[in-house]
Order: sequence, then structure tokens, then C-alpha cells
Amino acid sequence: MVLFEDALSIVIGQATVPESGRVSLSASAGRVLAEDIFSDMEMPPFDKSAVDGYACRMGDIAPLPSPGKEPGTSDAGLWKSATLAVIETIPAGKIPLTTVGPRECSKIMTGAMVPRGADCVVMVEDAVETTADTVRFTRFPRAKNICYKGEDIRLGDPVLSKGTKIAPSHVAVLASVGAVTPMVYNQPRVGIISTGDELVEPFRMPGLAQIRNSNGCQLEAQVNSVPAIADYIGIAPDDGPGLRSVIDRALTENDVVLLSGGVSMGEFDHVPGILREAGVEILFEKIAIQPGKPTVFGRKGDKFVFGLPGNPVSSFVLFEMMVRPFLLKMMGHKEHTPDLFLRMGVDFSRRKSERKSLIPVQIREGAVFPVEYHGSAHIQAYSKANAILIMEIGTTDINKGEQVHVRPI
Ligand code: AMP
Ligand code: MG
Repeated sequence: MVLFEDALSIVIGQATVPESGRVSLSASAGRVLAEDIFSDMEMPPFDKSAVDGYACRMGDIAPLPSPGKEPGTSDAGLWKSATLAVIETIPAGKIPLTTVGPRECSKIMTGAMVPRGADCVVMVEDAVETTADTVRFTRFPRAKNICYKGEDIRLGDPVLSKGTKIAPSHVAVLASVGAVTPMVYNQPRVGIISTGDELVEPFRMPGLAQIRNSNGCQLEAQVNSVPAIADYIGIAPDDGPGLRSVIDRALTENDVVLLSGGVSMGEFDHVPGILREAGVEILFEKIAIQPGKPTVFGRKGDKFVFGLPGNPVSSFVLFEMMVRPFLLKMMGHKEHTPDLFLRMGVDFSRRKSERKSLIPVQIREGAVFPVEYHGSAHIQAYSKANAILIMEIGTTDINKGEQVHVRPI
């Protein structure tokens, strides 16, 4: 039996660097960048107005200090010049035609280019048009309301680094610097096999002594959410030869194979033996974790196999704790650190502490609360949870308010 930390480092240490290729921007979300991205321009590309208003010269509207008031504040006193001539209207996307001179201003829209001569923009909310071409300001601007050329990103600046998993906000950065076909790592193809003679597919009503296969589609959904490429193969029988042929096929067609069931000590738990027969080198087959003890991990050439315990909760949590980080590494992700350290919302205890335990919890109002949980067959428990509480070996009691380690799911 290995410690979870050792099992995880074996798994992560085995993950190989994938090949890469270019994808369109719209297909890039969820993929991992295989190149550093640099900006091909200044951002913003020109001095641009942050508001709808009037671009003018600060010197024309600077308030005269009055006794007892701070200069530069809205109620600081008299305007040097309350009324300016409006010389142009500048919509976004148009180059201003005229330079703003003394006692002049140009009406300007948010995102439009600030005209030469102007050094601030007074918001439209603080202005009254007194005639068709004059405007009076009612309040001194609290800011210059200009986003200056290059203040966010300079030409040639690194904006995203290799190994970044592309989130929607990263897609926007890629778009803004014109990286429309980013180089990303290939995703592993993951074959999924449910083992067990008692299983029927979910669209069937189980007969006596049968149950529905919930792991197959659960694992498929988990693989897709990484996102890796899921290949649901089906239900394999518990008998040796039948199982062997399904495993052989799965290993040929996929980079990684996930099996559920058939890994414990029962007479029909053939998975570890058959994997060995199929030429898979088993790197561990028991982890000091609860649930999930009989988890198997092995390698055949450049193919990898996880044998996950059949109980749906065990299969679910082992995927989250071990298979997800492995698949992310197999698709080039440089780090996977989703864990949070939060306060326990209630007192909690367990009887045995010789294994690390994984407990379904809900994070709400900034604290951690266990959900009703009857053990590793209780699939509803995780449907009500939004995190896994990780309880270390040797810990039996956690007091309300104590800091705990949780992994959001
Ligand atoms: P095993 O690991 O094969 O001994 O299975 C442990 C428990 O999980 C048994 O009660 C199985 O019936 C159940 N089980 C195994 N595979 C699945 C599956 N694909 N879907 C739902 N339950 C399963
Ligand atoms: Mg079984």
C-alpha cells in the first residue's frame, strides 16, 4: 500500500509531454498553450476616452482655489472657464479631424481616439449643452478619463505563457493581440470501460441482482470536463478472456484507459491480473486512502491504465484526486493547484484514521459543511457536494473553526 502523495507523484511523474498543433481561437478554450504569446501591438493602441463626454484642456477648466477648499475638487470654487466651444463630434473608430485649442472641446464617445490638444475628458453627466455648439461643465472632472496608449500592454510584452490552460478571459487576450491560431497541446484520448456482470446500461431497467452502470457516463463526463477526449467503450464482463479482449482494444485505440470495478479482493476481481497478462506494468495497486484503496495504476509502452474501484463515489473521487491532474499534465498543463484552505463550519469526526479520507462537503458562506454521506456507494452525496474534504492520516476530529484542506469539484 502506498501513501496517496507517493501514488500521485508516481502518476504525475509518468505523464508525458504531448505533441502540439494550431487551433482556431473559438476552439482554444480549455486547451493548454504550447507557446508563449506576445503582444503584436500597444494596448490600448491609441489614447482613448474612457467615458462619453467632452475632450478639452485641463488648463481651461481648472478651478480657481477658494478659501478653505482643496484645489482640484468638485466644489473647489469658481471655474476658470465654465463654457467651451464644441468643435467636433468624435465617434469610436474615427480619427479626430481637429486639434482642440484653448477654450475649445470635442464631443467624444467611449472608446474613441482623444484628439490632439486635449488632455482630459469631462463626462457627459457633468455637462450641459448651452447652445448647439457650446457646453458648460457643472463639475470639475475627478479623473482625466483617458486610457493612455500602451498603459495595459506594450508592443512585444509577454501576455500568456506556455502551459496556461486557456480560460475565456485568456481567449480575449489572444484575440486582442491577434493570436488567432494559438499553438496548443494535443489532448489525450481516454478509453472508458465499466467492468461487472451485474451492470446494465442506464437506459435499461435492471433485472433482479443487476444495477445501472453509473460510472461509465460519470467518467465520460469527468474526462470531457478536463477537457480530454472521452471514448466510452462499454461494459466488459468479469470473466478473464472477455475482459482481456476489451482491454487490448482499449489500449490500442487510446492514450489512457480508465477501468472501473474489478480491482478489489473478490473472486471475480480480475482487473489487475488481466492487466499484467496484457503486458501492463503495474506501478501500484493499493493506496492508503478512504474510499479508493484498491486503485491500480500501470503503464504499457506509452499507454497508461487506471483501474478505479467500482463504487461510484470511489471512482468519482479518485478521478478528481488523481486522474484529472494526470490528464491535465498529459495535455501540457504546467500546474494544477485547485485546493483551498477554509474553516470548518461544524465539528466533525471519524472513527478510523489510518488512511487519508475524502469526504463530500459543501462550501457555503466561506466555511465547510459535510453533506449526508453513507459511504462509497452513496452517489447522491456528491451530487449535493461542491468540494472534497481531505482528512489526513491520524486526524479523527476537526473542530468548528479549524482550518481544513478542500478541493472544489
Ligand atoms: P467492484 O469494485 O467491482 O467490486 O464493485 C464495487 C461496487 O461498485 C459493487 O457494488 C458494484 O456493483 C458497484 N459498481 C461497480 N461498477 C459499477 C458501475 N459501473 N456503476 C455503478 N456501480 C458499480
Ligand atoms: Mg465488480
